[in-house]
Amino acid sequence: MSGPDQLASFARDEQVWLLGGVFLVAALIEAWRPERARILPRGWRWATNLGLHLFGQWLFLAMLPVTIAVWFLLKIGGPHVAAFAPVGAWGGAWAVLVAALVLLDLATYLQHRLMHAFFPLWRVHSVHHSDIDVDAATAVRHHPFEIILSGMTALLLMLVIGMPPWALPIYATLGLTVQLAQHANLRLPARLDAILGLVLMTPGLHRAHHAVTPEYYNSNFGTVLSVWDRFFRTLAPPLPEENPPGFGVTPFLADRYARPHWALLLPFVLRPERPSGRQPQPLARSQRRA
Ligand SMILES: [Zn+2]
Repeated sequence: MSGPDQLASFARDEQVWLLGGVFLVAALIEAWRPERARILPRGWRWATNLGLHLFGQWLFLAMLPVTIAVWFLLKIGGPHVAAFAPVGAWGGAWAVLVAALVLLDLATYLQHRLMHAFFPLWRVHSVHHSDIDVDAATAVRHHPFEIILSGMTALLLMLVIGMPPWALPIYATLGLTVQLAQHANLRLPARLDAILGLVLMTPGLHRAHHAVTPEYYNSNFGTVLSVWDRFFRTLAPPLPEENPPGFGVTPFLADRYARPHWALLLPFVLRPERPSGRQPQPLARSQRRA
């Protein structure tokens, strides 16, 4: 078990430097060759998004997990199902790690769909969608309640089916690294985006999820892998290069929602447009082959 353990320690200890490096590279590429021109200056947007992330992380670490973990451990006393034991017996610790990462990615896909389908959760998640510029900093724009919900999902997987705790920092670091890249204000060559998109959630696919039109934002829910969207038929193609729709969610399209107090208060004081439930446009055959 030493391999994944060491990887988890590395992910935990070096996360800030790793994510900071990816953010810096993304910011340089965005400045050099942006996919589209900015609407707002970076200052308040970046401060708000980073502030939300830090506040959410602090809130999660400081409060809820302790309460929930103690409650579960006292009431239940351990995992109901040792789901990873057969995987470990078959392929050892690295097989357990791969299984845990795949399961966490499926869980985040399902949680993301739930956040679009259930209106109270959509109000919370719409803070992430309310960025009218989408760049690497959008990756960390999540309301603290959403960060807590994601943490609780992972905690439940640990407590109910025995997911090893060391899988969490590895997935958190991997997921955030991918998210920084996929939100970045850049466009990969179409063919490269299409090839990577067979397995991964690429910038082309994820930036479509931030379009203001429901047929796009109700699709491409995956975090790291795009295979869940393919399997559940929620995959939409990248946005067109000519006249693409804007980013954001109606009616949070004004400059003021980039300010931190608005980002915190939005779920409680204003109602986002209800997702229409329209099905996403399926990929054309030619796009699937690419
Ligand atoms: Zn979403």
